[in-house]
Amino acid sequence: MSITGNLEKIRSTLPAGVKLVAVSKTKPNTTILEAYKAGQHVFGENKVQELVAKYEDLPKDIEWHFIGHLQTNKVKYIAPFVAMIHAVDSLKLLKFINKEAAKNNRVIDCLLQFHIAQEESKFGLSLETAREMLTSEMYQKMENVRIKGLMGMATLTDDEKQICNEFKLLKTIFDQLKTDYFSDKPSFSEVSMGMSDDYLLAIEQGSTIVRIGSTIFGAREYQ
Ligand SMILES: *Cc1c(COP(=O)(O)O)cnc(C)c1O
Repeated sequence: MSITGNLEKIRSTLPAGVKLVAVSKTKPNTTILEAYKAGQHVFGENKVQELVAKYEDLPKDIEWHFIGHLQTNKVKYIAPFVAMIHAVDSLKLLKFINKEAAKNNRVIDCLLQFHIAQEESKFGLSLETAREMLTSEMYQKMENVRIKGLMGMATLTDDEKQICNEFKLLKTIFDQLKTDYFSDKPSFSEVSMGMSDDYLLAIEQGSTIVRIGSTIFGAREYQ
């Protein structure tokens, strides 16, 4: 099926209020433009260099989400334009984002990434570290970042029960942090979870942002 057809099919399964980030990593600009012309204006990338190159070449009303692991020394390249950084997993990274956002006179929306999968290799915070971060004086002084919610990735498995439990855990952590630290902040409202193979399960568990690549664009040749 065409990209337009794929997008229409996915959109028809998304409840109102669930945002679709089209994950365009490794895909050429011509492919992204095809989705853009089909009305998709929100894209996700996971490499800084690739994101900057695409930002420069593609229409300026695209909303770019950075969904990968972000190194502190690279924040400056995306700070002028990035709409949301999905994978904040340390106070140190948040500090760099705040600093670069200030230089650009911006407030950058961020999500805290939590480790919910069984796999060892994935990045992410524990609840304890997140609590330390949110109660730190350093965080409380930051004026150029806005934490809008959480992000997580489930284990790569066929076990739907396990995937559901992991998404459920992320939603539970979200509810807890909202009560404890964001009760006066309606902007803390996003749970970014769900990819091509598991986004319907994620929506059942309360996802508000799904990040979908291969179901829109076809399989990637490399990660
Ligand atoms: C690649 C990627 C996705 C999209 O994966 P698909 O399985 O192609 O939908 C979503 N989230 C993150 C963080 C990714 O790196």
